[in-house]
Amino acid sequence: IQSKLPEVSTSIFSVMSGLAAAHQALNLSQGFPDFESDPKLIALQHKAMLSNKNQYAPMPGIFDLRKEISKKMELLYGVSYHPETEITVTAGATQAIFTAIAATIKKDDEVIIFKPAYDSYEPSIRVFGGKVISYQIDPETFEINWVEVEQLITSKTKMVIINTPHNPSGQIMAKNDMKQLERILKGTNIVLLSDEVYEHIIFDGEQHQTAALFPALAERTFITASFGKTFHNTGWKVGYCLAPSNLMAEFRKVHQFNVFSVHHPTQVALAQYLKTPTNYLELNSFYQKKRDLFLSLLKESRFKFVPSKGTYFQLLNFKEITSESDFDFAMRLTKEQKIASIPISVFNKHHLDTHVLRFCFAKTDDTLKKAAEILCNI
Ligand code: PMP
Ligand code: GLN
Repeated sequence: IQSKLPEVSTSIFSVMSGLAAAHQALNLSQGFPDFESDPKLIALQHKAMLSNKNQYAPMPGIFDLRKEISKKMELLYGVSYHPETEITVTAGATQAIFTAIAATIKKDDEVIIFKPAYDSYEPSIRVFGGKVISYQIDPETFEINWVEVEQLITSKTKMVIINTPHNPSGQIMAKNDMKQLERILKGTNIVLLSDEVYEHIIFDGEQHQTAALFPALAERTFITASFGKTFHNTGWKVGYCLAPSNLMAEFRKVHQFNVFSVHHPTQVALAQYLKTPTNYLELNSFYQKKRDLFLSLLKESRFKFVPSKGTYFQLLNFKEITSESDFDFAMRLTKEQKIASIPISVFNKHHLDTHVLRFCFAKTDDTLKKAAEILCNI
């Protein structure tokens, strides 16, 4: 067949995790914890499996889980998403992103994305014939010039995709960024996809600026979220999508023929687990401690960094260590020093190389200490 995605090869996450395994390296590349999910949550899933919850769940997700997600949005942000018509449970955020794009994008539609960008956006747009319009975020300051973004909008712009807290930079959208975006999109037919998978991992007392808080955004936005990131079980692949009912109706038309519904016992367990808000409210301080430990141990290293503001990723600049490309350096570190990371040029426009690697600190303190020891000797 003629490839629909000729430019796509194996994802960097598979490449680096594969290399880490082959070389028995510490794996701080792909974003997942090296510790277990709460045994209480695992027990809830086990219980659901023993209680006859092993057949198809309802297409949009079990009502109890949608109700708990709705209550969480009310509690955290004072916004209302109706469980019946505005919330759908998905097979991770990846499927929510793909389905939102599939429901919206036709051939030649333009989609504005911000680089560095999570790797699934671009192929998901292209596979439906959409055209990716990239805006490169300033690699030094990570600031977005909204006047420049506005200039990228044409009559063909169908969607804008944002991600806050941002993978891989660890930056967050400020209230003013969201206000600027709201100003630009107000009065247009442009749909917003707001990828908020790290909403519960944000540091130093900052507030997550969900698109749901901005009325002129909320009315046009698919918000995507991931329980894997929040409850330390990325392998369960359960997430969800929030959107106003007109958008959600289109989303579900695709969702029902994409997966139809997702893992039933996990939904039962998550619904129960969400009833205790501390289960997600404590995540910020949990990960802030890990970020602070990792960075305090790296003080003596030759890497330069600005502390991550959110996500469980930390960028480390290696300009003073070597002039190798980030890709070559990441490969060499994995093979020779036994520590794996992600070169971030793969997420940049024209693969711009800023000599920066991404390290995942969703790791036990012991792993972080071992990692820092290696990095301090480089
Ligand atoms: N968006 C971003 C920004 C991510 O980092 C990830 C990786 N977790 C996803 C989406 C996909 O999430 P999930 O694993 O739930 O599919
Ligand atoms: N979101 C994870 C990361 O950024 C990886 C997810 C994946 O492997 N597809 O590392």
